[in-house]
Amino acid sequence: MQLPYRDQPFDLCPTKIVAVAKNYRAHAAEMNSNVPFEPRFFLKPPSALLAPGGQVRRPVMSRRIEHEVELAVIMGRRGRDIPEEEALEYVAGYTILVDVTARDLQQQAKEQGMPWTIAKGFDTFAPVGPCIIPAAGIDPQILDIWLKVNDEFRQNSNTRHMVFTVARLIAYISRIMTLESQDIIATGTPEGVGPLEPGDSVAAGIESIGILKFTVV
Ligand code: MG
Repeated sequence: MQLPYRDQPFDLCPTKIVAVAKNYRAHAAEMNSNVPFEPRFFLKPPSALLAPGGQVRRPVMSRRIEHEVELAVIMGRRGRDIPEEEALEYVAGYTILVDVTARDLQQQAKEQGMPWTIAKGFDTFAPVGPCIIPAAGIDPQILDIWLKVNDEFRQNSNTRHMVFTVARLIAYISRIMTLESQDIIATGTPEGVGPLEPGDSVAAGIESIGILKFTVV
């Protein structure tokens, strides 16, 4: 997939999308959970990526899909065991990713002690864009972040409320798996997650980045 970056098309072909769970206290609370002591994360397949203006498809297997707007980090170079103090030097830029979730299938997986792969992994479950803004000059911890469905606010917060900062997430994740250039880290969603129905129009925004739009079918 191509997204604009410094006025040029940027080929975004990540080897993985690392998605962080429960990284905002108020979202953990709405899921009847606490924030973890260490970052918790799972993987979304790159096949889930959806270009700006695309259509999220509600799968036949699910009766309830939900939106989770997230600040997405695009890695600029390979690293492992990255020190937290140097972590932001590995970032090419930032964009918006909506971590679409089949909440009913996720609930089943939780009850059965199974991974979230199915609930998080359907095609079109990772709308991304509308562009990648260069990391230089951006403080990722002071950005307004919001999502509207059919022009109504559902989520409205600020990245300052993250439990673990972008730098801390990069350091932690890279202790476990090598982060490659173009890999994406979705840094968790603030409170206000809710259902998406066929016919919905969604707009997701982050200050200094732009607005990502998509529809649901
Ligand atoms: Mg999420």
